[in-house]
Amino acid sequence: MDEPVSPAILEFIVDRINVGILAIDRDYRVVLWNDFMASYSERPAEEVIGRNLFELFPELPRKWMERKITGAMVLRNFSFASWEQRPFLFRFSHNRPITGGIDHMRQDISFMPVVGEDGEVRLVCIYVYDVTDTALYQTMLKEALRKLAETSSRDGLTGVFNRRYLEEALEREFNRARRYDSPLSVLLMDLDHFKAINDTHGHLGGDEVLRQTAARIQASVRNVDVVGRYGGEEFAVVLPETDIKGAQVVAERIRTAVAATPVVHGDLSIDVSTSIGAAQLGPDDADHRALLARADSALYQAKQTGRNRVALAGDAA
Ligand code: GH3
Ligand code: MG
Ligand code: MG
Repeated sequence: MDEPVSPAILEFIVDRINVGILAIDRDYRVVLWNDFMASYSERPAEEVIGRNLFELFPELPRKWMERKITGAMVLRNFSFASWEQRPFLFRFSHNRPITGGIDHMRQDISFMPVVGEDGEVRLVCIYVYDVTDTALYQTMLKEALRKLAETSSRDGLTGVFNRRYLEEALEREFNRARRYDSPLSVLLMDLDHFKAINDTHGHLGGDEVLRQTAARIQASVRNVDVVGRYGGEEFAVVLPETDIKGAQVVAERIRTAVAATPVVHGDLSIDVSTSIGAAQLGPDDADHRALLARADSALYQAKQTGRNRVALAGDAA
C-alpha cells in the first residue's frame, strides 16, 4: 500500500490552493487558517489560530454565520451561499486592475461539517471562493445590455420605432422644415376602446392587435415617413414634405386599413378602429412639441366627435 499523506503534505496542499480555507470548533475558535486567508486578511495563522472568529472579525455577519455553523454542527448540513445573495463574507480587497464598480472580493461560501473518527462533528470547515471575475463579467454584461436597450430605437412589441426615436426624428424634421421652409405634418392616433379589447380578448389578444395595427400603419405610409409607438396603444407618424391635405389622405388610409378588416388571432376575430389627429407645422409652433400638442388636441376632437375618424388641427375650434 502507498504511504498515507502526511500532515505536512496536506498542509502544503491546503496552503497552495487558491481558495480560502478555515475551520472552527464548537466555540467558534479558529483551528485552521490557510495561506489564502492569511494573505488576504493580512493576519498570519499564528495570530488567528485558537482565537474566536467573531472577536477577530467583528464585522462578520454573526447571526447568519451562527445559523450556518449550527446547521453544519448539529444537523450535519452542507450549505452554500452565493455572492449574488451576499457579495462577500470577509472584506478582502481584490487586485484586479478593472474594478467595474466592484469594491471588494466577491465570494461564494461553503460550510462543511467535518466528522471525526468517532462519528461526531468536530469542526466546521468554511471555504471562501474568489468569484470576483464572474461578478465583474456579469456586471459588465448587465451594463452592456442596459446600454443596448438605451441605444435601441425599436419598440419591442410592435417593431416600429419607440417613442424616444420618434421624438428625435420629429425634432430633426422640425429643424429641417424650418430651415428649408418645407411642409411637415404629424399624425397622432389612439386605438378606440382598447380597454374593452383587452377585457374581452385578454392581454395577449390586445398585444396582437397592437402588432397587427402597427404593421397596417407601416404599410400605409411611404418609406421616408417615421412610424412610432408613442404610448400603450398610441402611435404617431412623422410625415416630412407633407401638408395637411396630404396628411389627411394618409390618415384616412390608415384609419380605413385598421377598421376595414378585423384582427385575426387564433380563433379570435377582433374589430379594431382608431381615432387620428393630424397637424401641419405652422408659423406659431415654437418647437416640435408644439406641433405634437396640436395633433394631440385634434386627436381629442376625433374622440369627442365619435371615434374611428380623422380630425385636423386648425379645423377643430
Ligand atoms: P378610448 O377610445 O377613449 O381611447 O378608450 P380606451 O379604452 O382605448 O382608453 P385608453 O386609451 O385610456 O386605454 C388604453 C388601454 O390600453 C389601457 C391599457 O390597459 C391598455 N394598454 C396599454 N398598453 C398596452 C399594451 O402594451 N398591451 C396591451 N394589451 N394593452 C395595453
Ligand atoms: Mg390611450
Ligand atoms: Mg385608446
